Amino acid sequence: MEKWPIGVFTSVDAGLGVKLEVASELGIPTIQLHAPAKATRTQANADKFLARLAELGIQLTCVFGGFEGESYADIPTVTKTVGLVPPETRAARTQEMKEIADFAKMLKCGAVGLHLGFVPHDTNDPLYNDVLVVTRDLCDHCKKNGQNVHLETGQETADALLQFIGDVKRDNLFINFDPANMILYGTGEPIEALKKVGKYVRSIHCKDGKWAAKPGEEWGQEVPLGEGAVGIENYLRTLDEIGYSGPLTIEREIPQEPERQKAEISHASNLLTKLKQKIG
Ligand code: MG
Repeated sequence: MEKWPIGVFTSVDAGLGVKLEVASELGIPTIQLHAPAKATRTQANADKFLARLAELGIQLTCVFGGFEGESYADIPTVTKTVGLVPPETRAARTQEMKEIADFAKMLKCGAVGLHLGFVPHDTNDPLYNDVLVVTRDLCDHCKKNGQNVHLETGQETADALLQFIGDVKRDNLFINFDPANMILYGTGEPIEALKKVGKYVRSIHCKDGKWAAKPGEEWGQEVPLGEGAVGIENYLRTLDEIGYSGPLTIEREIPQEPERQKAEISHASNLLTKLKQKIG
């Protein structure tokens, strides 16, 4: 793969990414995929999807898990509903995440990503240990599939994430770095965070955002790439510094406005292409 191919986050029948056709129309050569709904995660559909990718000349780089009942309405709701942290849904979702990894394997994809949820900051909290256990379980399942697990950033500070990954003690656990999430959740200045966690970064999102008035208590605002507080040129320079050469995957989730979504992704792709030429 060339250095820094442009990518985009896509969906088939679940999740908020763009359709594969949008990537194709915009000439974007790589995608991440939100896992499709359970009923459509079959070998036949995987084969069909792979054939379509081959036809379009698009490479799949990571499959993301998502679960029914997750809500990103506000930060307390995220804590209660997202990922493998909430105890009530943990067992069922862990099982589903393994099935998603198996579907990713059918798609010949070596990376699965997810929002783990809010990992408790107090490492003495019994819940912290529970989340370690479930993460090891998922990593071990994926290891048998020859896959890595990428944790989406945002809900933890860089230091907390480093501590957590160190405590999980699995060699196939890595990071999908999303700079805007650090701002939206108020968990730290993204460039500094990227430098800290750099050695674990195996995939990234290109997304931008503005800080909330009260970071960590209320949401920041997601904005088109280049218009927020990330500093995209500096972001790419820092990715270069940490030796990241993988896809630059644009994530913009406004499916209720498909035309605007497509226009913004096109704009983001052009911006990244220009910066790539400048930075090399
Ligand atoms: Mg993201």
